[in-house]
Amino acid sequence: MDYDVIIIGAGPGGIFAAYELTKNDPSLKVAVFEAGHALEDRKCPIDGVKVKNCIHCKSCSIMSGFGGAGAFSDGKYNITNDFGGTLHEHIGKDEAVKLMEYVDTINLANGGEGTKLYSTTNTELKKMCLQNKLQLLDASVRHLGTDINYIVLKNLYEKLKEKASFFFMTPVESIEKTEGGFLIKTQTGKYECEKCIVSAGRIGSKWMEETCKSLDIPTKSNRVDIGVRVELPAVLFAHLTDELYESKIVYRTEKFEDRVRTFCMNPYGSVVTENTNGIVTVNGHSFDDPEKRTKNTNFALLVAKHFSEPFKDSNGYGESIARLSNMLGGGVIVQRFGDIIRGRRSTAKRISENFVTPTLQAEPGDLSLVLPKRIMDGILEMIYALDKIAPGTANDDTLLYGVEVKFYNMEVEVNEDLETAYMGLYIIGDGSGVTHSLSHASASGVYVARKILA
Ligand SMILES: Cc1cc2nc3c(=O)[nH]c(=O)nc-3n(C[C@H](O)[C@H](O)[C@H](O)COP(=O)(O)OP(=O)(O)OC[C@H]3O[C@@H](n4cnc5c(N)ncnc54)[C@H](O)[C@@H]3O)c2cc1C
Repeated sequence: MDYDVIIIGAGPGGIFAAYELTKNDPSLKVAVFEAGHALEDRKCPIDGVKVKNCIHCKSCSIMSGFGGAGAFSDGKYNITNDFGGTLHEHIGKDEAVKLMEYVDTINLANGGEGTKLYSTTNTELKKMCLQNKLQLLDASVRHLGTDINYIVLKNLYEKLKEKASFFFMTPVESIEKTEGGFLIKTQTGKYECEKCIVSAGRIGSKWMEETCKSLDIPTKSNRVDIGVRVELPAVLFAHLTDELYESKIVYRTEKFEDRVRTFCMNPYGSVVTENTNGIVTVNGHSFDDPEKRTKNTNFALLVAKHFSEPFKDSNGYGESIARLSNMLGGGVIVQRFGDIIRGRRSTAKRISENFVTPTLQAEPGDLSLVLPKRIMDGILEMIYALDKIAPGTANDDTLLYGVEVKFYNMEVEVNEDLETAYMGLYIIGDGSGVTHSLSHASASGVYVARKILA
């Protein structure tokens, strides 16, 4: 055996698995293989001046590398079973929350100290939402911010590099079952291990699918969430964001009874692009440092779609819509709410005269040519519903960026230990389809590490 445990992927799932293993048993030989760069080498070339759009780097620094997709995220660490994944269905609700709280203490001890924990407990805003046909989901959220999140990751790496071997820019090509464990093949070498933890995240979804096929591990199709990112003056949402930081609000549309929800709220933040396997979509983040804040708040409005029979490829559906937007806009499209309502495209002139200044340089266009009517109608209905609790949301100047797509990995068949039918092969984090967040992914890493240690 080259290693006792090999971890594939250095996102939150992989990092916290490595942390827990090496902390509790320093004699273990642990290796982490990561397709992307080390943290200090991660740099997205989009600077808004020379490089305005995604240039499709070999390894996308937003999605890949030490820290995974979470490295430049807003670092919103949600402690809840209400959203962010279905880890509790495998390991129980109490255990899931305890693990998320445990990871929170590690983040605090590694640079996150002093960051604020927001909570929905006893908030009056819940009532205000219910009175307007909106539901506010329960959660505690620690906001690390992109800056502090980076410091936490840096500190964790300083500790981990002494205890585990890291192989950056080394994508794992295949996993094979051997007599005593698993053979991990990369372009530069083959390594044998007794146990293997796979935490390949969203960027590794295609590879994960192929790996499951080759090992005959059953998978189920998962949902896809499609929508837009809304950007408006931060002051309009300040009563919500000052108290809760992020409010997860759900609305059931009158027309189709679809559920539309807010997602990833970034007070005083910026809108950014994201590249998943060559498809450019939109996302957002914000800094903890007041000096780096903008005047705008952004959040996503998403509609969930799940296909089962005869068409099963929910992600493929989301990809096609994102491709259409990339085809029309060369990347992300931006449109004023007033232009959507008037049935006309936004132009560079209309955007430059808009009261809300965009934080992302996107192509002015027409989102109604991209989004299916049912999804567009749901988003417009939700904007009018939000306008009742945050007047001004439905102003002409509100900006909509599209498309935002949340791809969920297909759900891999794992047991209550997050172990596949192969003893010693664990699939965790977003790559397993079980988690969709920093907190759930990190918790799943600690959970399997403890199973291995036991
Ligand atoms: C811009 C952005 C903002 C976000 N903001 C938030 C937020 O505020 N709060 C929140 O809860 N969540 C947020 N998320 C989601 C969050 O980042 C993910 O849920 C989380 O990172 C999942 O962790 P993971 O370890 O499962 O996977 P990932 O973080 O995706 O890490 C997987 C890693 O595996 C590597 N990999 C993949 N395949 C291979 C292979 N074959 N060989 C070797 N390595 C491989 C990848 O390069 C990657 O680094 C955000 C995501 C993005 C993109």
